[in-house]
Amino acid sequence: MKVAVVGLGIAGLSVSARLALAGHDVSGFEQFEPLHERGSSHGDTRIMRLTPGEGEIYVRLARRANALWRTWEGLAGRPFIEWTGGLMAGPRGSPFVAACQRMSQTPAALMRGDAIHALTRGALAMPYEWDVFRQEDCGVIAADAVRAFLLRQAPRWGAKLHHNVRIEAPIEGARLRIAGEERVFDAIIVTAGAWAGKLLPEFSGKLAVKRRVVGYFRSDSPRMLPVVCCDDEAGLYGMPAPRGLYKFGFHAIGGATDPDTVRDPDGEDEAMLAEHAARLLPTHQPKPVRMVRCLYTVTPDENFLIAPSAHHPRVLVFSPCSGHGFKYAPVFGQFAEEWLSEKPSPELQAFMRGGGGVNRLGAEKA
Ligand SMILES: Cc1cc2nc3c(=O)[nH]c(=O)nc-3n(C[C@H](O)[C@H](O)[C@H](O)COP(=O)(O)OP(=O)(O)OC[C@H]3O[C@@H](n4cnc5c(N)ncnc54)[C@H](O)[C@@H]3O)c2cc1C
Repeated sequence: MKVAVVGLGIAGLSVSARLALAGHDVSGFEQFEPLHERGSSHGDTRIMRLTPGEGEIYVRLARRANALWRTWEGLAGRPFIEWTGGLMAGPRGSPFVAACQRMSQTPAALMRGDAIHALTRGALAMPYEWDVFRQEDCGVIAADAVRAFLLRQAPRWGAKLHHNVRIEAPIEGARLRIAGEERVFDAIIVTAGAWAGKLLPEFSGKLAVKRRVVGYFRSDSPRMLPVVCCDDEAGLYGMPAPRGLYKFGFHAIGGATDPDTVRDPDGEDEAMLAEHAARLLPTHQPKPVRMVRCLYTVTPDENFLIAPSAHHPRVLVFSPCSGHGFKYAPVFGQFAEEWLSEKPSPELQAFMRGGGGVNRLGAEKA
């Protein structure tokens, strides 16, 4: 089948690689250069959790992805995931922490927040009354290395990847317009992240685009710290980063933005990050050594949006979004293959029905 993939972030790269391997004639289009930093997939690290508290379907997806991560690592000749362990934390009675514990294969007892200080030899601190669930099956993915691997691997399997080519909006039918010229395909998969609503306006109401900023923090005595995911108002999360730094950001802080005109990190972001760093990382320098901006595409219930266009059954919006998609990347190509062959797995069926898990956080903070 002649398939177009619009957008080559992690989703489009996974889809292009897998469909080419399956024998489809794949053309992938990306508006920017390879490994650009203007979408949602850039950066050195992403959190991997085999027992995500977002819902049972994500646990199934994470376990399915994990086996495929081993295949990608074998092909790349290097590991992509470092298993650091993680701390899922929140105010007493947090539904997110309880869900992580309930769904875990090793449902150990919860700890109190004040135990974390001793556990990390003073490097991490949390309110003493918090619930904390320690997850061993948690770590960090070398995100940019994965993108670089797929940029090499997809063409080896026959995908034609075109960079610096912007598909004109809106997409109407199974045709793409490139610099005024039309190209017809048997199927189009729109993996355009924050731009998906512009390309397929029928979905724009379901895809809010948000600006997010992460900061990197230095310690005078760096050591490997665990991943942290907090069910607090800010949705703070953190993870080890290269060169002994610790990186953190907020799942729920950052206003709406247009993906084409996103503000760079500024003093306001720095102050917000520094305030939280002083509390969470008492032995780190509170001023971030670096800040990076990123785009979150968020659905109302924070589930992924995978759905065919109402105007053409062979045009699919494929948005593994809401700030938690990267860990499932190897499954995305399988989903695309299932959709093309009309043999959806129960997981894909659940997403296409609009189902999924639960919000980690109730409300977005502007
Ligand atoms: C700060 C941050 C932290 C995150 N942390 C985690 C984490 O710890 N764990 C986790 O699992 N997930 C995490 N995520 C989520 C994960 O990174 C995203 O779910 C994932 O990267 C989404 O990938 P994507 O391919 O859908 O989007 P993108 O990477 O944005 O890719 C879309 C691509 O489409 C291209 N495009 C758009 N329009 C056009 C057009 N008209 N023509 C051609 N190309 C076009 C864009 O340029 C872009 O490259 C995080 C996300 C962010 C932003």
